[in-house]
Amino acid sequence: MSDPTSKEEIILEGIPASPGVAHGTALVYLQKQLDIPSFDLEESAVDQEIERLDHAILETRSEITSVRNKVAESLGEGEAAIFDAHLMVLEDNALISEVIAEVRSSKKNVEHCYNNVAQRYISFFSSMEDEYLKERVSDIRDVTRRLLHNLIGMTKVDLGHIPHDSIVISEDITPSDTADMDRNKLLGFATDVGGKTSHSVIMARSLGIPAVVGLRDATQRIKSGDQILLDGYEGVIVINPSEERLYRYGKLANERRKLDAIYQTAISQPSETKDGAPIQLMANIEGTQDMEHALAMNADGVGLFRTEGIFLRHHGYPPEAVQYEEYAAVAKAAGKNPVIIRTLDVGGDKTIGDETVKEDNSFMGFRAIRFCLENITIFKTQLRAILRASAHGNVKLMYPMISGLPELHRANEVLESVKAELREEGQAFDEAIEVGAMVEVPSAAVIVDLLAAETDFLSIGTNDLIQYLMAVDRLNDRVAHLYDPAHPAVLRTLQAIIDGGRKANIPVSVCGEIAGDPIFAALLVGMGADSLSLTANSLPEVKYLIRLMDSQDAKVLVKKALQSNSSIEILELLENFRLDALGELVH
Ligand code: PEP
Ligand code: MG
Repeated sequence: MSDPTSKEEIILEGIPASPGVAHGTALVYLQKQLDIPSFDLEESAVDQEIERLDHAILETRSEITSVRNKVAESLGEGEAAIFDAHLMVLEDNALISEVIAEVRSSKKNVEHCYNNVAQRYISFFSSMEDEYLKERVSDIRDVTRRLLHNLIGMTKVDLGHIPHDSIVISEDITPSDTADMDRNKLLGFATDVGGKTSHSVIMARSLGIPAVVGLRDATQRIKSGDQILLDGYEGVIVINPSEERLYRYGKLANERRKLDAIYQTAISQPSETKDGAPIQLMANIEGTQDMEHALAMNADGVGLFRTEGIFLRHHGYPPEAVQYEEYAAVAKAAGKNPVIIRTLDVGGDKTIGDETVKEDNSFMGFRAIRFCLENITIFKTQLRAILRASAHGNVKLMYPMISGLPELHRANEVLESVKAELREEGQAFDEAIEVGAMVEVPSAAVIVDLLAAETDFLSIGTNDLIQYLMAVDRLNDRVAHLYDPAHPAVLRTLQAIIDGGRKANIPVSVCGEIAGDPIFAALLVGMGADSLSLTANSLPEVKYLIRLMDSQDAKVLVKKALQSNSSIEILELLENFRLDALGELVH
């Protein structure tokens, strides 16, 4: 019998982004423009409205003070000064008196009045010549947003400090938000916008945090405090899930756990097909914190070290010493296994400081190697740190977003100049360090022979390659259904790149998200990829599957897939191959 006090279930459908199921309490995290309510007050409600303002000011004060103290502790008093300025704005008597006067005279709610007064201050300060006063505008904006969030009852969450068992619901989540997340407290997240291969989602996957994106209006329909069930496999959110649904999900989770335990048995086994064809399975990491997991999964080294994580966690450009320590620690932890460190891929959805302002077409803009070649000091600092770390292990260097030979030549010139500096200083580094390029821009794929002739290895970044090949922005949920890794054009391009590497006798790896997707494992093996680099979480399942397949069968599969003109048919071929390989396990 259903419980008469239980609330009605509401189901929202989005895009499955990071697998797993989470059940917890919603925390609605708003970053963008607030909808500020406006309504008339009864005469008798005016005093109560002013009391609401007092409470919100107190609440905001304690929030700002706690952020201030945290920043002072980690970055020093100088960095914390900005929050002292925020407290001054918050407690500015003139501003508060004006708001109270406006509530009394207009008999409108306090959010409406506060916003009106704040906007007047913002226009006034913006028109000033004085730079110092102009800068106060952003303080007023920040404080107003915090205070309005508190008045409206929505929390301006610091993702590093959230209550236990939270599921964050947000319009969008940036990679720097994700970098601040406390993985012990955050059960999952869901966003109104976004695609499967946004960097926040990639980070969530590697942290093992279930996520659903592209829900369109989740932030409007979910309130902080709601009970939520998030299904990252199917891309569904259930508000107020019934007991029956929770029971069903509990059973599914049990089955999933049993399967996972079976996949884990592959970890200690060699990474090869049933007939003994080897394929390296390497880890995608964001920093030293991911190494323990990568080693526990027996990864054959690091195939992609996305160094942006260090920059995002640092909220800026970390000095050489900070970078060196991190790269060297990873190199040491990997022992003899290779560690491919990718130079800074900032821009796109990863913005750091003022140098990387968000652009209209940010993925086609000032990003990655383009940014580094115009910010030589930042680039050189990183190259120095990577080279010095190469003295401690099997480090290789890789450039992202190479679109043609001139970029490769220019990057190598900078690299040579940094090597010369280090030699002169007597600093140790690996003179024979291998240098590779990511193939993720279609022009690079077309000239793969030219690139292969001048590099030591290639790594295919399918996340970008697919978005550029198909003109489907990887962040845009409205066109997410067109982002199709099984498109015949994608398959042909992948095969051409792998063949190009093979002809030049250099290894080719795949490091985009499809490398960790079991459906694509046989395809990539059959095409002849030398290694797959994937999040450590996906490694056991992919390895288990590879060990069950025959490399000749995988080649036949590729032949059939390349002859097909339909991605639906290709996906069917791939899925059937996977199911056949797994046999009884899934039947
Ligand atoms: C890719 O584009 O596939 C890739 C691995 O790089 P990123 O996802 O960091 O852009
Ligand atoms: Mg990329």
